[in-house]
Amino acid sequence: MLVDSHCHLDRLDLSAFGGSLDAVLEAARAQGVGHFLCIGVNAENAAKVKALSERYPDVDCSVGIHPLDLAESGEPHLDWLLAELNHPHVVAVGEVGLDCHYGQDSLEAQKQSFRLHLEAARITGKPVVVHTREARADTLALLREANLPQAGVLHCFTEDWDMAKAALDLGFYISLSGIITFRNAEDLRQIARRIPEDRLLVETDAPYLAPMPYRGKSNLPQYVRETAKLLAELRGVDLETLAAQTTANFKRLFPLARVAA
Ligand SMILES: [Zn+2]
Ligand SMILES: [Zn+2]
Repeated sequence: MLVDSHCHLDRLDLSAFGGSLDAVLEAARAQGVGHFLCIGVNAENAAKVKALSERYPDVDCSVGIHPLDLAESGEPHLDWLLAELNHPHVVAVGEVGLDCHYGQDSLEAQKQSFRLHLEAARITGKPVVVHTREARADTLALLREANLPQAGVLHCFTEDWDMAKAALDLGFYISLSGIITFRNAEDLRQIARRIPEDRLLVETDAPYLAPMPYRGKSNLPQYVRETAKLLAELRGVDLETLAAQTTANFKRLFPLARVAA
């Protein structure tokens, strides 16, 4: 069984499925995807992801403010975050982190929000789902400063080996997305071979970043299988082994997730 460790089920394009999320999830289950972590990105979608986790026993969720959603969402309050996290199916904090792809204007605000989420992670003991882009040093500095007792994950990893190694040394997991299937991602494929088998996760980040051969289309949770297939090939194991490893890792990292045995 595979787990899609990071997807945005409230944002999927349902048009090929008659508008039915049930049908999307059923198609994924038919491809061996047995669990979904639906990720929060702002205050507005927190209610949606929680509702999905209440509706489907194989969907858990996280709540947090994405760094690029801060401008619209405004700076979160710790009380709000703790109240949101006090829900049995909110199994993680995030996605949160630093994203300087569009410049550094909001970096200070992003750091403040990241620190607040890390504090909420400390208080609740829930793992943090980290989004980081073009902010390697600052992301690592804040994770080191927080020095959380529990592990977390760098999602949709696209950085270099030094960053992977630093995150692994902090006890973090690394989640790989469909980007590893892209033609120009050879550096990332080298990294994918080196991540220890007990620290690796797979995700779609659907509806974004569909893997080959679906690149350019709207991504779906069922396509996590394409990423897992390539990953298994890169690592010289069969798909079943890769699935068992990454699912065991998911369960260890997110102990509150309701993953079927
Ligand atoms: Zn992200
Ligand atoms: Zn995401």
